[in-house]
Amino acid sequence: EITTPRPVDDAELAIEGALRPVSLAEFVGQQKVRGQLQLLLDAARIQQRPADHILLAGPPGLGKTTLAMIVAHESERPLRMSSGPAIQHAGDLAALLSSLTPGEVLFIDEIHRMARSAEEMLYLAMEDFRIDIMVGKGAGATSIPLDLAPFTLVGATTRSGMLPNPLRDRFGFTAHLEYYEPAELERVVGRSASVLGVALGDQQKAEIARRSRGTPRIANRLLRRVRDYALVHAGGAAADIAEVRAALELYDVDGIGLDRLDRAVLDALVKRFRGGPVGLSTLAVTVGEEPDTVESVVEPYLVRIGFMARTPRGRVATPEAYAHLGVPLADGALD
Ligand code: ADP
Repeated sequence: EITTPRPVDDAELAIEGALRPVSLAEFVGQQKVRGQLQLLLDAARIQQRPADHILLAGPPGLGKTTLAMIVAHESERPLRMSSGPAIQHAGDLAALLSSLTPGEVLFIDEIHRMARSAEEMLYLAMEDFRIDIMVGKGAGATSIPLDLAPFTLVGATTRSGMLPNPLRDRFGFTAHLEYYEPAELERVVGRSASVLGVALGDQQKAEIARRSRGTPRIANRLLRRVRDYALVHAGGAAADIAEVRAALELYDVDGIGLDRLDRAVLDALVKRFRGGPVGLSTLAVTVGEEPDTVESVVEPYLVRIGFMARTPRGRVATPEAYAHLGVPLADGALD
């Protein structure tokens, strides 16, 4: 899927690396979060201590990993990267924490997927820079306290609601990343186009931005497909507007940037369930996806553009969704 918000392979990861802004000043949009982070980093610098722990919440592709790298870069500290799924036992976390150097920035992506036992160890580590290591089993088991080097934890999550409160409370600052405005995505596209050496007019940039689902990762990905298209069909590094549209259509991105899965969810909601309300898991099974993907990737955008609402009784389609699919509003569909 061209609009799958997560990186699809190593090649994409490498290109993303090249396109990542390295400073807060270069980071496009999210003005409020940037200001908040700047203050937090400046305060830490003045006091010559590691910055407070930071939680970055929001759908995939909005810049959480990029911000973690920027935090390390701006505070001139090394960065260690890990992820929730890689921490399946408290021992995994103990090994990671005890190997940190003073002031290091530890990035844990998908922190909501960490093992429970590790979560509890992390509370103490975040608060007191200390952990208790259990040795032995049964009656002979004892815990050995271990002091850690002070560090800054940057956690990222697509599901902040799934974090236990004690963990959430231990972050000094939580940033909720929002989908980007088209004008901001145009700047992301413009910046990436110059890094990639693609010549693009304003109209072309705007078209890519409009169809990127509010997500910089998708904007960068669409830009690369447009570049490919121009290379193959026009033999050059410039794309006109017809080529931009043709490239995006080839990859099944519709006029407002919805992809196959977005449309499948809308279609099921409107046609199969007559506009809802329908529960998340029923909806997910109908489109053959994990509930987690539907909830954290598809729905936030559909809600944001006003096509879907989450109600206590389930998901419902709005009149805008009917209009987009070209389905007449059935009587009582939204009761
Ligand atoms: P996340 O960790 O939230 O999934 P990433 O930080 O990996 O997202 O960002 C995905 C891609 O989008 C990267 O290539 C990054 O360079 C680009 N990107 C994200 N946010 C911005 C931004 N605000 N300005 C410019 N590029 C961005």
